[in-house]
Amino acid sequence: MKKILITGGAGFIGSHVVRLFVKSYPDYEIINLDKLTYAGNLLNLTDIEQYPNYRFIKGDITDTGFINELFQVENPDAVIHLAAESHVDRSISNPMEFVMTNVIGTVSLLNAAKECWKGNYQDHRFYHVSTDEVYGALGETGMFTEHTAYDPHSPYSASKASSDHFVRAYHDTYGLNVVISNCSNNYGSHHFPEKLIPLAINNIKNNKPVPVYGKGENVRDWLWVEDHARAIDTIFHKANAGDTYNIGGHNEWKNIDLIQLLCGIMDEKLGRKDGESAALITYVTDRAGHDLRYAIDSAKLQDNLGWVPSLQFEEGLRKTVDWYLENQEWLENVTSGHYQDYYKQQYEYH
Ligand code: NAD
Repeated sequence: MKKILITGGAGFIGSHVVRLFVKSYPDYEIINLDKLTYAGNLLNLTDIEQYPNYRFIKGDITDTGFINELFQVENPDAVIHLAAESHVDRSISNPMEFVMTNVIGTVSLLNAAKECWKGNYQDHRFYHVSTDEVYGALGETGMFTEHTAYDPHSPYSASKASSDHFVRAYHDTYGLNVVISNCSNNYGSHHFPEKLIPLAINNIKNNKPVPVYGKGENVRDWLWVEDHARAIDTIFHKANAGDTYNIGGHNEWKNIDLIQLLCGIMDEKLGRKDGESAALITYVTDRAGHDLRYAIDSAKLQDNLGWVPSLQFEEGLRKTVDWYLENQEWLENVTSGHYQDYYKQQYEYH
């Protein structure tokens, strides 16, 4: 029996990881530790909440007293750490919250693991889930590899880069068995509608302007969230201590091209005339320090551990649109209250 503490399991990617582990490994005990911020929602996990190998604990990773006690009481065999503040725009308006959760929260977990697992680090694993944004921006060509130097530009990516450095330092200094993965942009079901794809789906459906930063020229690599969860499963079980893996879809899209594709799918799904959804596209003042292009080389993961993305992008987008159209109650639940206030301040239309 393996006991795995998954942090941030009520969030977008975390809920897919929890679901995959709970269903794939009935002999593992999965503990989901989450503070349930605006981005965390137990509605993401209603299908597995009754499974006997699943448990939820509400708690804050920055609360060191609570985290130390949790490790003493539960003594987990491994941690998969996803809890974070994750939205770049929010990090620009409130960087301190990102330092607290992403840096202090990660160190709080590392410290508790170091004390709890002392004398037997090789049989325990601390898996830290991170982003390709730590590598900074690319020009028109090239890709991030595991050897690319860190060059974060936003408070979000700076906080994630810092947490990555701390995780490596606990391996190099204390010998903790750590693994890190850096993944490109995810898309799929249960994604909070402040991020590009779910925001666009929700706005198109409600006939509201679809905000696109600058001229929509920024390029991102997109990966189906369930493929990310599978990659985490593979790396968690197969990587060597101290390893880093890049995860990506080899699927680069300019924001404006992606939105155009999505608008076409929405026209079809909603029975609208061609171009009706695209007419909602509205260019808004660019994000400060907006990185031009990210592209990630996941050859190491594919060659060494045999992981490959399973889904072609347009098929994944169609599945995502279907999920949002079929899960109106979820959408209404997460877009009530604070979301409305946040949304009003965020976009300066012109
Ligand atoms: P998310 O914002 O959807 O979920 C984050 C979760 O962490 C939420 O459930 C929230 O309640 C929880 N949380 C926040 N602060 C906490 C605290 N102090 N204590 C306990 N729980 C707390 O984020 P996501 O998009 O699912 O990202 C998960 C992880 O993957 C993050 O570490 C992020 O940096 C990384 N990542 C995300 C992407 C992406 O495209 N979304 C890509 C690469 C890496």
